[in-house]
Amino acid sequence: MTEPSLLENKLAPGTQCVHAGQPVPTIGQPFLPGPVLAAAYHLTGEPALGTADIYGRNGNPTTRALEAAIGALDGGRALVFGSGMAAIAALLTTVLRRGDVVVVPADGYFVTRKYLAEQLAALDLEVRALSTTDPEPDYADARLVVLETPANPSMDVCDIRALADRAHAAGALVAVDNTTPSPIGQQPLALGADIVVASDSKALTGHSDVLAGHISTRDDELHRKLLRTRTLSGNVISPFDAWLTHRSLGTLSVRLDRQSANAASVVEELLGHGVVRQVRWPGHPGDPSYPLARRQMRRFGGLLTARFPDAETADAFIGGCRLVHAATSFGGLHSTADRRAQWGDPVDPGLVRISVGCEEPRDLVIDIRTAIARL
Ligand SMILES: *Cc1c(COP(=O)(O)O)cnc(C)c1O
Repeated sequence: MTEPSLLENKLAPGTQCVHAGQPVPTIGQPFLPGPVLAAAYHLTGEPALGTADIYGRNGNPTTRALEAAIGALDGGRALVFGSGMAAIAALLTTVLRRGDVVVVPADGYFVTRKYLAEQLAALDLEVRALSTTDPEPDYADARLVVLETPANPSMDVCDIRALADRAHAAGALVAVDNTTPSPIGQQPLALGADIVVASDSKALTGHSDVLAGHISTRDDELHRKLLRTRTLSGNVISPFDAWLTHRSLGTLSVRLDRQSANAASVVEELLGHGVVRQVRWPGHPGDPSYPLARRQMRRFGGLLTARFPDAETADAFIGGCRLVHAATSFGGLHSTADRRAQWGDPVDPGLVRISVGCEEPRDLVIDIRTAIARL
């Protein structure tokens, strides 16, 4: 496969989505070459001296093309993993040492906290779980500060630049879990973060059919260490899934535009019903996250929450929708909803997370109106 073109850094994000990581146009060749399915590759006599691929766990051209694309979008060098948690685990195990202090969001993705508590218990870490809206977060002695904005599922937003400055002053590295906004919704590296980590199983792929994750950084030494972690732990993505991810990336911008516009309509509908106690979406001018989100984000996306009075009403709402399917995960073409407390998120039992998809807004609004009318 031809190496990806260098053009992509200069293009607008939506254009980058379409072109990033693709080979230089060559007569008779496809736009995005198919997946190179390989465990082993033919070797030269002295593989250690060559630049060719030697084994699938060490490297794959389809995965590298995807990494060129995601790296261009994030503004750093990307490494792709088999899932978002594989990327988060690689980051934590590469950066943290015994007895370190690590700061994580108390209101963000709960599996990250679970991984630290259960899988890394032997490291005797001090895990400081802080609210995303904490005005004076305690970063003293921290090795790593993980931010998540908008946080899933609180939908609170924090100021990446201000918190990165604060963490750097304390001597910490800053990683932003950028899953919810995706690289075209928010650019943490440009805002001062050292690392972007994300699940690409959500909006980035957007078809609810791939598990993937990535880490991007501008620090070449950290990139090298993370690559070593991936090669030794075997947390690789399959070439087919890497290809599917690259193919899906092409429509990310179009999908997010549609999802954001649909979310605005859904929020207006939800706000019109007394049974919905609170709606959170950073793109709504009435939301406490809005002023900061407007400055920091380029697109708001389709993820929002609606708080019903109790678990029963919330479940009845989800069950009463016809187009909005009950499912966990978010960012896909299909609108979905789930009640977060059932998974162990420390939230109100009536809190429903809604991922607004790419349907026509009118149909979604009618579906939601009908489900609420039946409560
Ligand atoms: C889903 C998610 C993850 C984990 O990603 P997987 O691909 O499911 O392993 C991490 N962080 C956030 C914010 C997520 O929403």
